[in-house]
Amino acid sequence: MKSYDVAVIGSGPGGYVAAIRCSQLGMKTAIIEKYNTLGGTCLNVGCIPSKALLDSSHHYEDAVRHFDEHGIEIPGEVKVNLEKMIARKQAVVDQTTSGIDFLMNKNKIDVYRGVGSFKDATHIIINGEEKEEIEAKKVIIATGSKPSSLPFIKIDKERIITSTEALNLKEIPKHLLVIGGGVIGLELGQVYKRLGSDVTVVEYMDRIIPTMDAGLSKELTKVLKKQKFALNVSHKVKSVDRKGDEVVVKADNKKGEEVEFKGDYCLVSVGRRPYTDGLNVEAAGVKLDDRGRIEVNSHLQTSASNIYAIGDVVKGAMLAHKASEEGVLVAEIIAGQKPHIDYNLIPGVVYTWPEVAFVGQTEEQLKEKGIVFKTGQFPMRALGRSRASMDLDGFIKILADEKTDEILGVHMIGARAADLIAEAVVAMEYRASAEDIARMSHAHPTFAEAIKEAALAATEDRALHI
Ligand code: FAD
Ligand code: NAD
Repeated sequence: MKSYDVAVIGSGPGGYVAAIRCSQLGMKTAIIEKYNTLGGTCLNVGCIPSKALLDSSHHYEDAVRHFDEHGIEIPGEVKVNLEKMIARKQAVVDQTTSGIDFLMNKNKIDVYRGVGSFKDATHIIINGEEKEEIEAKKVIIATGSKPSSLPFIKIDKERIITSTEALNLKEIPKHLLVIGGGVIGLELGQVYKRLGSDVTVVEYMDRIIPTMDAGLSKELTKVLKKQKFALNVSHKVKSVDRKGDEVVVKADNKKGEEVEFKGDYCLVSVGRRPYTDGLNVEAAGVKLDDRGRIEVNSHLQTSASNIYAIGDVVKGAMLAHKASEEGVLVAEIIAGQKPHIDYNLIPGVVYTWPEVAFVGQTEEQLKEKGIVFKTGQFPMRALGRSRASMDLDGFIKILADEKTDEILGVHMIGARAADLIAEAVVAMEYRASAEDIARMSHAHPTFAEAIKEAALAATEDRALHI
C-alpha cells in the first residue's frame, strides 16, 4: 500500500490547487478523482464551458445586432452552428483539463482515478477500474457540489435540465424557461437569449440576483428587460411537468394567483448542494452539518483532526476562487504556517453582459449592522471609453465609512466589471480609503476611470465628469 503525507479527494479548483501547494511545500501528495478528467465542476461543467458559450454567443449577438452600427456589413445571413459552437466549448474544456494533468505531473502528484471512500481516518479505498487502498497522514476533502432541485421536479436531463445539460444542448430552445434568477439562470439564460430563444425567468424572491446589492439587481433587471428577457419575480414554483416536447411550469404569484409558463426546455437553477455521496465520511469520524455540508472549524479542519475540507462541500460562497484560496490555506496550515483568508474580500461576478461584480458589504448589510456610510456612484455612460465601444449600461458604486472613509463595499455593473473588481479587492485588502483611490491615476480612456470617479463622488461629491 502506498503512503502519502496528504491525499486530496476531488480535483476541482479546490482540490487540485491544494495538491499543488502541498507538493510545493515538500509533502508527498496524492489526488483522487472519480470523473475521467481532472478539474472538477469548474473546468468540466461550470466556469470554463459557461464562459466559452457566453463568449461565442456574445460574438454572434454583436454580429447580428451591433456590427451594422460600427459600419461593418455582412453580406448574407449570419447563422449559428450550434454543434460547432458546442464543439469549440468542449475543445476549450479539454485543453484546460489536460493542463491540470500536466500540472499534476510537473508537481509529482500521484493521480488516482475512482471514487475515494474512507476506510478510516487515514486509509482511503479507491473504487476505480481496480480497487486500491492508500494511506495518508492528512486528508483534504474537496468533493464539491452538484445541482440541487425542488422535491417535486423530476430532472429528465432532456427537456427539464440542469446547467450540465444546458452546456450541451443539441438545438437552440424556442422558449427556455429558467427556474431561479441567480447566477446560473441568468448566465445560461443570456447564452440562449442571444442565440434566439425566448427566455422566461421564474424567481422566488422579489428580485433577481437577490443576495447581491439591490442597486445591482435593479440595474440588471432594467438591462435584461431591454434584452427582452421575461422576468417573473415573487413567483413560487409549484409544479414542473413535461408533456411531449413541452414543459409546463406552474407557479403562484405575489397575489397567490396561479400562473402558467410553457416552453420547450426548462433549466432548473435553484442552487447547488454539497456532494459527499460514496465518501463514507462516518468511517473517518467526519461530521456533516444540518445542510449536508462537511462541518469545519476556522482552520477548515473537520471533526477528525487529520482531515480538512474545502470549497463547495463546506460553508460559504460556492465559487472556484474561494475553493482555491481554501486549498492553499489548508496546505499551508498542514505545513505549519499561519495563513488567513478574509472571506469578506472574496469577490463575486455574474458574467452576463454587462457584467456584474462586487466585493465587500452591500448597502443592505451595512444598514442592518447600523454602520453609517457614504455612497459614490458613477454611471458608465459618462465615460469616453463606454461611448467608444457602445457599452453604456451600468454604474460603479463605492460604499465608504462615513467617518474614516475606509472602503466597505464596491458594487459594479458594466462592461468588463469582472476584471475591474480586482482593483477594488486590492484596495480593500490594503484597507484603502475612497480618497486613496480618488487620488490614483487611472489610464484614459478605460472603464476603470469609473472607479476613480465613483471614489471622487464618495469623497465630497467631486466626480469630474458628471
Ligand atoms: P468541484 O469543482 O465540484 O470538484 C469536486 C470534484 O470532486 C469533482 O471533480 C468530483 O467528480 C470529485 N469527487 C466528488 N466526490 C468524489 C469522491 N468520493 N472521490 C473522488 N472524486 C470525487 N465559480 C466561479 O468562481 N466563477 C464562475 O464563473 C463559475 N461559473 C460556474 C458555472 C456553472 C454552470 C456552475 C455549475 C458553477 C460555476 N461556478 C463558478 C462554481 C464553481 O464551479 C464551483 O464553486 C467550484 O467548482 C467548486 O470547486 P470545488 O473544488 O470545491 O469542487
Ligand atoms: P444561486 O443561488 O445563484 O441562484 C438560485 C436562485 O434560485 C436564487 O435567486 C433563488 O432565490 C432562486 N430560487 C430558489 N428556490 C426557488 C424556487 N423554489 N423557485 C424559484 N426560484 C428559486 O444558484 P445557481 O444560480 O444555481 O448557482 C449555484 C452556485 O454556483 C452559486 O452558488 C454560484 O455561486 C455558483 N456559480 C457561480 C458563477 C459565477 O461565479 N459567475 C456562475 C454560475 C454558478
